This record gives sequence, structure tokens and C-alpha cells, in this order.
Amino acid sequence: MLGACLGSFANVCIYRLPRNKQIISGRSFCPKCKKKINWYDNLPLISFIILQRKCRNCKKIISVRYFTVELIIGIIFLLIYLNFRDIFTITFLSILALILIMIFFIDLENFIIPDCLNFSIMGLALLKNFLPNFGTSLTHQMSQSIIGGIIGYLSIWLIIFLYKAFKKIDGMGLGDAKLMAGIGFLFGWQSIPFVLFVSSILGLIFVIPSLIKKKKNMRTEIPFGPFIILACLIYFAYGSQLYDLILV
Ligand SMILES: [Zn+2]
Repeated sequence: MLGACLGSFANVCIYRLPRNKQIISGRSFCPKCKKKINWYDNLPLISFIILQRKCRNCKKIISVRYFTVELIIGIIFLLIYLNFRDIFTITFLSILALILIMIFFIDLENFIIPDCLNFSIMGLALLKNFLPNFGTSLTHQMSQSIIGGIIGYLSIWLIIFLYKAFKKIDGMGLGDAKLMAGIGFLFGWQSIPFVLFVSSILGLIFVIPSLIKKKKNMRTEIPFGPFIILACLIYFAYGSQLYDLILV
């Protein structure tokens, strides 16, 4: 339930952050008719079902993203709570998941990653080095964290640089580079080749159907942040086992 409520807050951020609007003040309003939403129409998950995904005032369709985000964050919070014991780990992972989900959907809809979210991840990643070891694939060594952050940033920066040199266009954004720096800070440099490789494969799998149907071409812009986050999730869950497999 806490996850679904914070998912509701995440939805506000996903809408307002890319539009440079205040996220704390200002009541929720319908993005279509701008009418303020009553509290009983603003209950996480429940209101969406009761209202049958239509605004009570203008009857326009509400994006299914509102329901999806609340549901996903609810489920993720539950999984974290069931899998970890101590309060530091549970709180840390929950906040991290919340920010990553916001980045996922903001990038998906707007092709940008707000700096404030990327810097929050880096801040959390540095804070983690002072907390007791979580027993996950996150690194708790400051030196590992810093090297990871630098290598993460440089890896995407290099792709942008080379792409610009050869193709004369921007292949990726610096938002992706900052996100990858955050992931390096979180997991250490060992995670970077894995996350880069897996996110590229996931991105390819995602675009191939539309390339075949000729809906997209090789120049079509696709958001890369969501694939980085999916790869990061796989690394979090299976990273250490996967490395054992490769190194055996
Ligand atoms: Zn409306």
C-alpha cells in the first residue's frame, strides 16, 4: 500500500519534472481539462478502476501509465520487503527503485532524464558506502564506487563522441551518461560492461519489429534510459551468478 501511494507521488513527478513544474505544492489536476481532482478520485489503483480510466469532469481517457506505475511500485516494495530483513536495506532499495521507475517513465515519454533524479541516484550511491553491507550486488567500497562512476560516465561519453565524429549527429544524450555514472557508483565498474551490453541487446530486441515493419528507421530516436534500468535490474538480481558463469 505504501508503494502504491508513493507510486501515485511518482506519477506526479513523472508528469511535472520534465515540464519544470513544482512537485510539492499544487493539488493534482487532470492534464486534459485542468480541473482539480478530489481526494476520493485520487486514491492509488482504486480510483483508476472505479472511474474506468476516465476523468470525472471531462470524461477524457486517463493514461494507463498512472495505474501501471502505482502497481509496479507497489509490487517492487512488496518484493523488497519480503526479501530483505534490515531497515537500512529495505529503505535504501525502496527509494532507489522509486527514482529508477520515475526515470524509466520520464525518459520513455519525453526522451530526457532530469538531472535532479540522476544526481539523487549518485547521492544515494555514495551514502550507501557508509551503511552496513546489504549482501547484494551493490558495492560498499568507496574506491569501487568512484571508479565505477567515472567509467560509467566515460563509457557513454565515448559512444556519444565517436558517434558524433563519424555520423555527425548525437547518438545518445548526456542524461544517459549521468545515469550510467550513477549505476557505476552503485555497483562498481564491473557492472558497466554488463549493463551496456544487455541494455543494447534489449534496445535492439525492442526496435527490430518496427524496423522490419518500416515504422522506424536507423535514425529514429528511441529512449535508452529504460533499457539501462532494465539491464541494471537484471544485474542487481543475477549479476554475481552471471559473472560466476562467465568466469568458470
Ligand atoms: Zn479532465
